[in-house]
Amino acid sequence: MSLLTHLECARCGKQHEPARVHNLCGCGAPLLARYDLRRAAETLVFERMASRQPTLWRYGEVLPTARDSSVLCLGEGFTPLIHARRLGKRLGLPNLYLKDESRNPTSSFKARGLAVAASMAYELGIRRLAMPSAGNAGGALAAYAALAGLEAAIYMPEETPRANWQECVLLGAKVVRVSGSIKDCGREMREQLKGEDWFDVSTLREPYRLEGKKTMAYEVVEQLGGRVPQAMIYPTGGGTGLIGMWKAFEEMEELGWTSGARPRMFSVQAQGCAPIVRAFAQGSDRAEEWEGPQTIASGLRVPSAIGDFLMLRALRESRGVALAVADSDMLAAMRELAETEGLLTSPEGGATLAALKKLLWDGLLAGHESIVLFLTAGGYKYQEVLETLTS
Ligand SMILES: *Cc1c(COP(=O)(O)O)cnc(C)c1O
Ligand SMILES: [Zn+2]
Repeated sequence: MSLLTHLECARCGKQHEPARVHNLCGCGAPLLARYDLRRAAETLVFERMASRQPTLWRYGEVLPTARDSSVLCLGEGFTPLIHARRLGKRLGLPNLYLKDESRNPTSSFKARGLAVAASMAYELGIRRLAMPSAGNAGGALAAYAALAGLEAAIYMPEETPRANWQECVLLGAKVVRVSGSIKDCGREMREQLKGEDWFDVSTLREPYRLEGKKTMAYEVVEQLGGRVPQAMIYPTGGGTGLIGMWKAFEEMEELGWTSGARPRMFSVQAQGCAPIVRAFAQGSDRAEEWEGPQTIASGLRVPSAIGDFLMLRALRESRGVALAVADSDMLAAMRELAETEGLLTSPEGGATLAALKKLLWDGLLAGHESIVLFLTAGGYKYQEVLETLTS
């Protein structure tokens, strides 16, 4: 049962009532869900988790839905954490782990966020959901909307991989293709749907996708037997996963699950679209929009993010860094992950291995550390990329 108490603005701290429809705070910043963690600790006990269902809904106390009947579940979450022995040996890393998010419904970790956001919307009586998507978010939204009989409208850049818009169409969503980036899609969407009763589920413009994505950190801790990894490498676009997992570590400490050092968080972006990397290097609190974003990693083709200040804060608080990798290095890393570990991941997943190599080379990570790479989606939807890799 959810122990949600209220929503809190990530910038001005203003509190908002739960159980109501929310987008941003009046000040324009994202809202974060807050729970009664003291009470949650009574039932959400680490040692008793084994008996719970193998989906992200096992963390019900720290998820927002008030009623079981509003949960839209396609089996999302509790994906395997794979000990990468062959790859780790090659790199001199005996404690290298891969979180294989391709096992989620619609083959990406976007299912986590959208399962929770769509369930909450359904609980609150919202019937029509809209979002811009450069790749996997659209398919995930379409799937949960289909499951609940809700309407979905998805605005996608023309250069989105074919399979991403095909799945949206097949899953019954209304798909609008827009020339430009995901940012232009967002603008177009707000323009077209203005005054209509469509609920905006864009990244961080509603509070619950973050809650779904934070569960990756709970799972990693559970799967490592209660240990906290020393480093996590995460391909970063809008930042929901990064911000969500950092929030999860804060919660897990209060729940008594973890203590001591939190992991260092490393954000990977593409060299052709790296607004967070640039802002991090400049020491800024906000990231300027990236002009002409270009990369094969569609999930990273996000020129500006409303949660930029939260990503930069998490990176600095965790003593991590943001770094960019070339598309060619993502491709090489996809091949290496496939050949050494049997996992066909997406370019974004490849980016984490490319980043790991850079971090080892630069001495920012060392061989004895426990490191988790987030393989955020399966490679199968990236037909265009697979063509390049095999021709
Ligand atoms: C959306 C996406 C990302 C970026 O995730 P955020 O949490 O929005 O930063 C990374 N990888 C893939 C495959 C994605 O679809
Ligand atoms: Zn505010």
